[in-house]
Amino acid sequence: MNIGLIAHDSKKELMVQFCIAYCGVLSRHSVCATGTTGKLVAEATGLDILRFLSGSQGGDQQIAARIACNELDLLLMFRDPITVKPNELNEANILRLCDVHNVPVATNIATAEALIHALERGDLDWRNIGNPNV
Ligand code: PGA
Repeated sequence: MNIGLIAHDSKKELMVQFCIAYCGVLSRHSVCATGTTGKLVAEATGLDILRFLSGSQGGDQQIAARIACNELDLLLMFRDPITVKPNELNEANILRLCDVHNVPVATNIATAEALIHALERGDLDWRNIGNPNV
């Protein structure tokens, strides 16, 4: 399965801790991420992560494109719900694309935990059926 990671600045440490905790599960899948998030997670976990551009340089839109092309099976996007971000429209677009393509998405750690356990159990394997990209 292809898993995408995006974490806003105030959530990057949380994403790193999450990925350390679930490194074993994540290592059995292909992980991609926006630039800085990917760098921090790779450094902390040793995971082999496909890193796109930094979010501010369009990395979030590269992730959006993968969703649009049915190349992403799970997205963990830890958002900062308090601070207004300049790329909020991109964020809304990513969530819209997840709905269009039925991609499970977590915007907070509670949902991320539920989804990662579902992934581990094989509950998300239905995404593989008939999809030659995964
Ligand atoms: P980053 O992008 O991982 O490159 O910081 C995420 C974001 O848009 O905050």
